[in-house]
Amino acid sequence: MHGGSGFGRISSYKTLDKSQKIPLRKVPWKRIWSYFRPYKVPLISVIFVIALAAIFGTLQPVLMRQIVDNALLKHNYPLLDKLTVWIIGLIVASSLLGVLQTYINSWIGEAVMNDLRVKLYAHLQRMPVDFFTKTKTGEVMSRMTNDVQQLQSVVTQTYGQTLNNLLVVVTTTIAMLEMNLELAVVSLAILPIFILPLRQVGKITYRVRRDTQAKIGEMSSHMAETLSLSGALLIKLFGRQQQEVEHFTGISQEIRALDIKQTLVGRWFFMFLSIITASGPAIIYFVGGHPFFGRTVSIGTMVAFTVFLTRLLQPVSSLANTGVNVYSSVALFDRLFEYLDLTPSIEDAAEPVDVPEVRGHVQFHDVCFSYGGDRLALDHVQLEAKPGQMIALVGPSGAGKSTISYLVARLYDPSAGSVTLDGIDLKNIRLSSLSVAMGMVTQDTFLFHDTILANLRFAKPDATDDEVVAATKAAAIHDLIVSLPEGYNTVVGERGHKLSGGEKQRMSIARVLLKNPRVVVLDEATSALDSASERAVQDALAALLTGRTAIVIAHRLSTVLEADCIYVVEQGQIREHGTHAELLETGGLYQRLFHEQFARALEDVRVVG
Ligand code: ATP
Repeated sequence: MHGGSGFGRISSYKTLDKSQKIPLRKVPWKRIWSYFRPYKVPLISVIFVIALAAIFGTLQPVLMRQIVDNALLKHNYPLLDKLTVWIIGLIVASSLLGVLQTYINSWIGEAVMNDLRVKLYAHLQRMPVDFFTKTKTGEVMSRMTNDVQQLQSVVTQTYGQTLNNLLVVVTTTIAMLEMNLELAVVSLAILPIFILPLRQVGKITYRVRRDTQAKIGEMSSHMAETLSLSGALLIKLFGRQQQEVEHFTGISQEIRALDIKQTLVGRWFFMFLSIITASGPAIIYFVGGHPFFGRTVSIGTMVAFTVFLTRLLQPVSSLANTGVNVYSSVALFDRLFEYLDLTPSIEDAAEPVDVPEVRGHVQFHDVCFSYGGDRLALDHVQLEAKPGQMIALVGPSGAGKSTISYLVARLYDPSAGSVTLDGIDLKNIRLSSLSVAMGMVTQDTFLFHDTILANLRFAKPDATDDEVVAATKAAAIHDLIVSLPEGYNTVVGERGHKLSGGEKQRMSIARVLLKNPRVVVLDEATSALDSASERAVQDALAALLTGRTAIVIAHRLSTVLEADCIYVVEQGQIREHGTHAELLETGGLYQRLFHEQFARALEDVRVVG
């Protein structure tokens, strides 16, 4: 259920903890830049705006000195009026530029994130089923939402602010050096004394924030699993509520402790900043007031320097922590790149073939397949379903029947050998063309949390109402749908739980009927249905199978009796094949399986007969 409890699904894809530092030279700067490249014009504009704002900001203390030395001390009122207007003008202008800068910055940040998010989603859509079986849903969600969101704020803050800070520091330093060399040197020299502790605090903040993020991720993933319908069901059935609450409490308390730590670290940061802000002017007056350097410093200059010092503090302290911020943004990019780097194993060939007129001849040519590792899930499988034939797969649990069905639909590719449709290797058929040719009905029917109509039209968005009704009638589900209060507009619950198992399967059959593929792969439901539902499903299946090639994982007596050929699978190998009568006569594995799995049904038939 949860990562720590030992029975969580394994993630063979690299785990998320990428918080360690990546050597700077290994940072994929080029790749990160490639996401910003399309926004060169706004980037140049923002640099221009930042530079302008920095210059305006630096001019203020210069004018301040003029006010003190030339206007106030000399009682020059016309100059005082003029300078006051200028200073206020500059303040308003640089504030407006600040707003513009934030706008352009967030515009760029949002655009980059939007591109990345869409690219990631499209990429994940191309991933094979294998990826989804091996990756926790919560983890994928977390990268798609949290990481991208975090990256957005880190990107706009880090890159925009770093540039801003650099320009402010450079312009202010130049202005200070220009105004008074000695005082400038002293001011710049005292800065590191205060900045160093700030840097330490920054590092701790980063660590605490990172740990908090990891814990929040753990909590989301735990909630996603335990508060989902299936998870909640399982917890209730096994009476595990108490343990789950305890586990949740544990994570929640850790988050509480981390949050307190984060607040306190933030307070330390503030304290250091206040000390410097408050004592900076005193130091300037002390150094400037004493004739240390043989000449007195004008009061205006000292006033200007107090402003300079205040202006420098915030940018310098942020710059001291830039490394940490850059690292966290790089780590986030890295986590997303990790997904983008997963190559979809099921892809169109270089020159894929379209098969507009599918006959439906499916063949397995000496197919071997492994889900990973040495163990073969399919071991030299030879199999054939001629156009319009129905073949049945039977065999003990874990024999490889579902695996065969996945390979027919090209959800996986064989490790050796080939699967062909009308003599063409599936690998060479265009995926979109193959998807038109194939339909699959699995045991576990997934329905979107949407109306029945929308779920049906998922198979064929442009299906007319008549087509939909024809499909549902054939699948023996129309009557049920119209009996619902909102008919075809009834919203099915999460994962379709408002419908019974048999009804969902009929919905799934109707969906495939609407798609009208030439080849159907069907995993018959194992669960026993009452006779009325059984008959309804039977009718639906008959409609589904007529006139198509069908590969059926058989759990029903009628299916094995009607199959053109039965393939008996055991330990990934085809042990026997033939018709029901032929195989019974051979007296091999099929005979034994038949008596175990189907004989009871046969008894029932005899009794009724
Ligand atoms: P059942 O009738 O119980 O559904 P099956 O005949 O359909 O069984 P498969 O599901 O094809 O059997 O499984 C064949 C083998 O492959 C089993 O040993 C199973 O554990 C293994 N297997 C199935 N899916 C995966 C997977 N995604 N990763 C690794 N191994 C898998």
